[in-house]
Amino acid sequence: MSCSGDQVIFEMNARHRRFLQTLSLAALLAYTALFAYQTLSRGGVADEENVLAEKRHQRAPLEEASVTSESSSATATLRPPSTVLDDVFISVKTTKNYHRQRLPIILKTWFQLAKAQTWFFTDTDDPEFQHKTNGHMINTNCSSSHNRKALCCKMSVEFDTFIDTDKKWFCHFDDDNYVNVPRLVRFLGDYNPREDWYLGKPSIQAPLEIINKEKKPTQKVKFWFATGGAGFCLSRALALKMMPVASGGKFISTGEKIRLPDDVTMGYIIEHLLKKPLTVVDQFHSHLEPMKFIRREILEEQISFSYSRNKDEWNVVKIEGFDTKYDTNRFLSLHCFLFPHFNFCPR
Ligand code: UDP
Ligand code: MN
Repeated sequence: MSCSGDQVIFEMNARHRRFLQTLSLAALLAYTALFAYQTLSRGGVADEENVLAEKRHQRAPLEEASVTSESSSATATLRPPSTVLDDVFISVKTTKNYHRQRLPIILKTWFQLAKAQTWFFTDTDDPEFQHKTNGHMINTNCSSSHNRKALCCKMSVEFDTFIDTDKKWFCHFDDDNYVNVPRLVRFLGDYNPREDWYLGKPSIQAPLEIINKEKKPTQKVKFWFATGGAGFCLSRALALKMMPVASGGKFISTGEKIRLPDDVTMGYIIEHLLKKPLTVVDQFHSHLEPMKFIRREILEEQISFSYSRNKDEWNVVKIEGFDTKYDTNRFLSLHCFLFPHFNFCPR
């Protein structure tokens, strides 16, 4: 192998050039890697922040989901699981003289949609209706008169009976109410039973003002109350907070103290004593308002209806359907309008 000086120089140059090339390539690679790392790491932090922000954003509904329903599990949905019929305790106040007059229409219509959840609170043992309600009549042993004490006594038993269940909502109605059961359940789904909710409709334009004579100097007390004749609902959380003044018969003594009816006593306890506001729900209706003004287009959205008679004038829902002779209070026609699949509805 010949080894001239030129060749050595050339070879050295070539080796030198390759070395330099490798070096600059390595430097380029190192620089690129550094640049890429910096860019990525900056972007990475930003991404992480976004993820955290997103997680924070998602946490509220997730936590809410877990408080809304004990049975909630980690599913893909972020919406709180909706309320079901079985979460609701429906109590209906009645009295022995109204069983035959008012209960049959309820039993034929809306009770059929909440047989297991609805209980009738009355003041006598009535084997016939005990049978017709599948054992859902509760004799409160309260007096069968319309006085304040008797009505508060019934409400007191309704309240205690609810507390003894594991239901999330307590909804009270009168025996002249029609309850749109699926609508009630859907409506309650918008509220969290672990929060304090008093849902109903006042029948007066301004809060009720009473004088507390026990306090000297006498004190004016102002509060709203949901009229019992339209129905109202309480969340379990609120009912539990009411227990010191409402459970075990204390509802009666509180009512006696202010000398006002059961629904007013309810408002006094919740709004005045507990300082929790009434949430006004327009979809509850008592016969203190004219039923005929509830437009046909909005009937389905309403939660409760009622009826009353003043001499020959009937205050009833305006709805076509069965003959007024046969369906005087219009509950049959209303029921068939809302649930036409019922077997007694015209096809
Ligand atoms: N009620 C009762 N005892 C009575 C009279 C009435 O428990 O002696 C109940 C009745 O069943 C209804 C509510 O109280 O659920 C209201 O009664 P009603 O509709 O006769 O009177 P209103 O107060 O609506 O005019
Ligand atoms: Mn009534």
